Amino acid sequence: MQRISHWVNNKVVAGTSGNVGKVYNPATGEVQAEVDLASVAEVDAVVAAAKEAFVTWRATNLSRRAEIMFRMRELVDANRKELANIVSLEHGKVPSDAMGEIARGLENIEFACGIPAMLKGGYSEQASGGVDVYSIRQPLGVVAGITPFNFPAMVPMWMFANAIMCGNTFVLKPSEKDPSAAMFVADLLRQAGLPEGVFNVVHGDKVSVDRLLEHKDVQSISFVGSTPIAKYVYETGTKNGKRVQALGGAKNHMLVLPDADLDMAADAAVSAAYGSAGERCMAVSVVLAVDSVADALVDKLKSRIPNIKVGPGTDPAAEMGPLISREHRDKVASFVTNANAEGAKVVVDGTDKAKDAGFFLNPSLIDNVKPGMKCYDEEIFGPVLTVMRVKSYQEGLDTINANQFGNGTAIFTRDGGVARQFQFDVQVVMVGINVPIPVPVSYYSFGGWKASLFGDQHMYGPEGINFFTRGKVVTSRWPDPRTSSVNLGFPQNR
Ligand code: NAD
Repeated sequence: MQRISHWVNNKVVAGTSGNVGKVYNPATGEVQAEVDLASVAEVDAVVAAAKEAFVTWRATNLSRRAEIMFRMRELVDANRKELANIVSLEHGKVPSDAMGEIARGLENIEFACGIPAMLKGGYSEQASGGVDVYSIRQPLGVVAGITPFNFPAMVPMWMFANAIMCGNTFVLKPSEKDPSAAMFVADLLRQAGLPEGVFNVVHGDKVSVDRLLEHKDVQSISFVGSTPIAKYVYETGTKNGKRVQALGGAKNHMLVLPDADLDMAADAAVSAAYGSAGERCMAVSVVLAVDSVADALVDKLKSRIPNIKVGPGTDPAAEMGPLISREHRDKVASFVTNANAEGAKVVVDGTDKAKDAGFFLNPSLIDNVKPGMKCYDEEIFGPVLTVMRVKSYQEGLDTINANQFGNGTAIFTRDGGVARQFQFDVQVVMVGINVPIPVPVSYYSFGGWKASLFGDQHMYGPEGINFFTRGKVVTSRWPDPRTSSVNLGFPQNR
């Protein structure tokens, strides 16, 4: 059985805790590897390595850091396919989808290559007589990233590229469900010339997360995962004095107005709902259809579903793979199975596929959902698209704003004025106008409002740089012996 171990000081380090997790091939349902789950002492050893490396790394000049990140960019680019296959094998997403994940992650590495230009501070010459004032940004120290199963390559890239370029050393605790992508990336960083201890991987479960949250030498926590754990990570990390950004779950609504191109809207909704088997925090989960077009839109959604090819990543024709685990597959199926009893209408039931050995479901479509139903109130995170019928733009907007989550949303319309009003009114952080999955490019930042983010700094882009640095302001005077005198008054600028 393949064993996946930790990565410390640019080497694989075998686990000693005796605890392991099972890594499945979701397409077959078989266990394909075991991953070491770290003990407290093992987490401490990884943090100690990162702490030691920080002394030299923060003093390494910016152009040298950038040179390494540029090389990393080349290595990821050259190894896209291999990395995508690793993701596909453990996560289940089809390789074409995994290639998209790598491409979006690579954008974050490219952004990080240019960080020296963004670390420039401000300078005020002659703020007072002979006095100059300037601001600089410095790294935090050892920073940690805790990542979810659904983007095992991209989400770590959101974090480590900025963190390292800003001069921090990094400890990654990837999802124990698909841990191999992190190891592959770690080895690419080694090949790029990253010194020992700057990027480390510790595999584990709650034990290692809790240790990182309380460790006095860990300065910050970047977390992406489900809302209850994000809230816990934020509360525990901040209680222990750490800077925390904790991104949580989502329920993304797509509002379709009567003037929209319904075919385009249906294509977009189907792509965004069922891509990656719905296991994306930016997946469209609810279509809000204004009454006058709802029947037509539901028909168009329904007609597209039989064309979706569900299968393993090894099948080149497959467009949608399995879910991550048997338990998750069963939970997703239960939302569909219970929907009719809750008063909704199951238009397409994909749960028959749950009989397969792999963790598959076919796409499902549920109409007439309403707040108060489980399939609306909870994050499904699977290939289930729901439709809620609303009377007007205003009812659609009010529905979105009343939802506990505020991650992504989209409006489909030909009316620019209404789209602009939507962008003004909607209480969601990432807004698409005729774009169903509005994940910001790497030079903006990825965030969340309401229960989709705990903390105030978004991930990657400019806010990522803020998060991984802290400011310092220096007031300096080079004494001029000609003007030197004793003055006990409070220093004034005028
Ligand atoms: P998860 O919350 O179960 O796990 C995330 C991380 O937390 C993993 O590394 C896991 O080992 C750790 N963890 C799990 N339980 C823990 C506990 N009790 N104590 C401490 N640590 C624990 O999330 P997941 O199932 O891996 O990922 C899916 C979730 O992530 C969905 O809710 C999805 O919406 C969300 N997500 C959000 C974003 C975003 O940007 N907002 C992006 C991707 C995924």
